[in-house]
Amino acid sequence: MDQCGAKLNKSTVSISECRSYTLHEVQSAVEKSLDGIGGIQSFVKPGDTVLLKPNMLQAKSPEVFITTHPAVVEAVINIVKDAGAVPMLGDSPGGPARGMERFWEITGFADVCKRTDTQLVNFEKSGIYEFERNGRTYRVARPVLDADVIINMPKIKTHGLTKFSCAIKNIYGVIPGLQKTEYHKLAPKPSDFAEIIVDVFALSKPHLNIIDGVIGMDGMGPSAGNPKEIGVIVASDDAVAVDSILCHYLGKDPMEVPTNRIAYEQGLGEASIENINVLGEFPIVDAFKWPLNVAGSIEVVPSFISRALMKLYYSRPAINPDLCTNCNTCVQSCPTDAILEKRPTPIFEYERCINCLCCMEMCPEKAVFDDKNSIYRFISRFSGSD
Ligand code: SF4
Ligand code: SF4
Repeated sequence: MDQCGAKLNKSTVSISECRSYTLHEVQSAVEKSLDGIGGIQSFVKPGDTVLLKPNMLQAKSPEVFITTHPAVVEAVINIVKDAGAVPMLGDSPGGPARGMERFWEITGFADVCKRTDTQLVNFEKSGIYEFERNGRTYRVARPVLDADVIINMPKIKTHGLTKFSCAIKNIYGVIPGLQKTEYHKLAPKPSDFAEIIVDVFALSKPHLNIIDGVIGMDGMGPSAGNPKEIGVIVASDDAVAVDSILCHYLGKDPMEVPTNRIAYEQGLGEASIENINVLGEFPIVDAFKWPLNVAGSIEVVPSFISRALMKLYYSRPAINPDLCTNCNTCVQSCPTDAILEKRPTPIFEYERCINCLCCMEMCPEKAVFDDKNSIYRFISRFSGSD
């Protein structure tokens, strides 16, 4: 859709077609997207330090499409350097981040940064700034806020808890270490957790968002879903507008995604489709699969009741023993210590489980699955949610 002629005060989202991860095609697409919002010079001045924040959820190769593709990272590094600025790259993975070098190597970021002489920063070791927002305390990695410019570089993915993971959710990785999973304890419901994500986003608001939408992920993202060809690079200075317009094009009302709704209500960006100026064409994407988001079904229930209801109605995580390698990443990722180390596979203590799905998100073998009980199956058959 091309809506040229829209009012200048609208948020602008600039879309470019990109059908492969060859560096030449990606860089052309990134440059074209940036041209639509004034070019890199509108965001970066010579001598600026620029923190690139990709999605580095797990130590996984680019070929499984969980992390931002290194070709997109390299293209943005080249563009930032051409503008006379100094790029650096950092992110904190979703679970225990022992041996950050392994994450950098496997995701392809180390290779790109070596070739382009770009600094990799380890958020787990670089200190924090502490903030209060909405009565909660947050610790943000220092390099994020010390940089002159933050460029947010997510991948388009679904999310089992918050439905969508892109520009707003990607900023959650500025929280170092397992503090990220600790926040799940405070927020068993998706909307509660989305408030925390939006708090972090507001404290570390990116100046520019460049989205890897060449191959995204649908189904049970952000790590256990399926690669989905979308074929775009997207740029905007408004993360809320980007996420909202992408949800809209992928068949989801942006207001059904709690991070969009809450960020919009807090005045952090535009989520109203008619108020977003879209440049470029978004391709037709067949049968994009959204996650079930079972936790969303009890949004109407007070948080203190939600845990009890989960036992009666909710689906719950379980482990496929044929896939489990007993690596214990799920044990270390669980914010409520609801998973115990056992052989041949860990076991769940469901009375402590808050259904945050971190274990499913972090399992490197896709061994954790959504085990629905019969009540859930019965109700979902009539509600059409399954
Ligand atoms: S379920 Fe996954 S994360 Fe947990 S021990 Fe097995 S392989 Fe590791
Ligand atoms: S067992 Fe899994 S879903 Fe339950 S609280 Fe722990 S990480 Fe979250």
